[in-house]
Amino acid sequence: MRHIAIIGSGPAGYYTAEAAQKLWGDGVKVDVFDTLPVPYGLIRTGVAPDHQSIKGVSKRYEGTALSSNVRFVGNVHIGSDVTVPELQQLYDAVVLATGAPNDRPLDIPGSDLANVFGSAAFVGWYNGHPQFAGLAPDLSGQTAVVIGMGNVALDVARILSKTEGEFTGSDIVGHALYALMASKIRRVVIIGRRGPHQIMMTPKELGELGHLARAAPRVDPADLPELGEDALLEPGLRKSVTHIRSFAAIPESHFADVEVEVEFDFFAAPHALSGTGKVEAIELERTKVEAGRAIGTGEFYTVPASLVVSCIGYQTSPIPDVPFDERAGKFANDDGRILPGLYCVGWARRGPSGTIGTNRPDGFGVIERIAEDIAAGLLGPGGKQGRAGFDELAAQRSLDVVTFRDWKKIEAQEERRARDGNPREKFVDVGEMIRARGD
Ligand code: NAP
Repeated sequence: MRHIAIIGSGPAGYYTAEAAQKLWGDGVKVDVFDTLPVPYGLIRTGVAPDHQSIKGVSKRYEGTALSSNVRFVGNVHIGSDVTVPELQQLYDAVVLATGAPNDRPLDIPGSDLANVFGSAAFVGWYNGHPQFAGLAPDLSGQTAVVIGMGNVALDVARILSKTEGEFTGSDIVGHALYALMASKIRRVVIIGRRGPHQIMMTPKELGELGHLARAAPRVDPADLPELGEDALLEPGLRKSVTHIRSFAAIPESHFADVEVEVEFDFFAAPHALSGTGKVEAIELERTKVEAGRAIGTGEFYTVPASLVVSCIGYQTSPIPDVPFDERAGKFANDDGRILPGLYCVGWARRGPSGTIGTNRPDGFGVIERIAEDIAAGLLGPGGKQGRAGFDELAAQRSLDVVTFRDWKKIEAQEERRARDGNPREKFVDVGEMIRARGD
């Protein structure tokens, strides 16, 4: 019998558990740990609440979680409740599937002003992550600035622009919905330091922006490259650029009835944020793109900004005793192997890129690495204590472990309290989650 501990119950964690099961069947026992009492990581707290079809993948993870040799171990913080070296003593392999929960810092003057948030915090707020549920962004100003031209920037811009009716069927948390419905924001400016040919937004997500009830995208036709240059782009990016071109073709008369304008400001590098206590404006430097790089032109201008959300990527959280690559913001690893017996997968391995599905081959890949190390005799003869050893440690330390059965009770309560037409009303507080599992 082999024992595997997976730290993190998001997509990378559950695909890894699935891969272990496929390879070893009854010959493996897998414990999937999470700091929160609830599973699914990014699916629950990262994927936009109005993208329920993407969140549906959690049903697949549930299939894995309910199998007899996989166990969810919630409400346990690896690094403080239990250390990685302790887990290494107990399990043949420890796999870090901890994602990239921290924002890449927006390193410009004024980024510590009030109402300036990273996307991890802002997305966590409207998605009910306990760490960010109390964020209370001030939406009483007119202009929000969203920095970055990836899918997270699109999510944030869309959420700031939708009507209450457009959230029907979503699982946006009540506190965010009520704040958004009272929002006075009427202009959302998406800032890209490069041009339309360098956006990271994908076609389906970008297309949604053209079909909002009270909002419309605005693109300056002068920012578009020559049409013929699109032919050189890879097909996905070409489709996205086609959406940008269609936005640029929206006639001015259309905006007379539009309540929220979502404006694309290309060739604009953030330079500084200013305001008295709270952010009031962003200073930008006009850029030009040379050989794919943004070069400052020395021309500066200011855009009013009552709210700033920086969507410029994420970093993994370091864990004590685990080698970390500070520059890349992820664990130091060779194709998923940190050292024999200790591995990483998903965003913790490769950084924050790709779709949810990208984590599946990642999960299968890391299990191959582990199988190779077992075959090479690097993980010892087996016979480790595995979950029995962990349970002993948990009892000694009085850890209040939340099981998958507990989670199903929490989930049932969340479904019971859902607003009409919505799938669930999440608990946003760890204590509430734990109480909801009952006795
Ligand atoms: P991303 O796709 O890497 O985009 C980050 C954006 O931030 C880029 O436009 C980048 O510009 C810009 N940026 C980085 N540093 C900057 C700086 N210092 N100043 C100004 N701009 C800066 O990251 P993401 O949007 O966080 O998304 C992460 C991953 O999750 C992606 O793979 C994304 O597709 C995925 N995701 C998918 C969905 C979906 O499928 N529905 C939803 C959300 C997220 P440069 O290119 O110039 O560096």
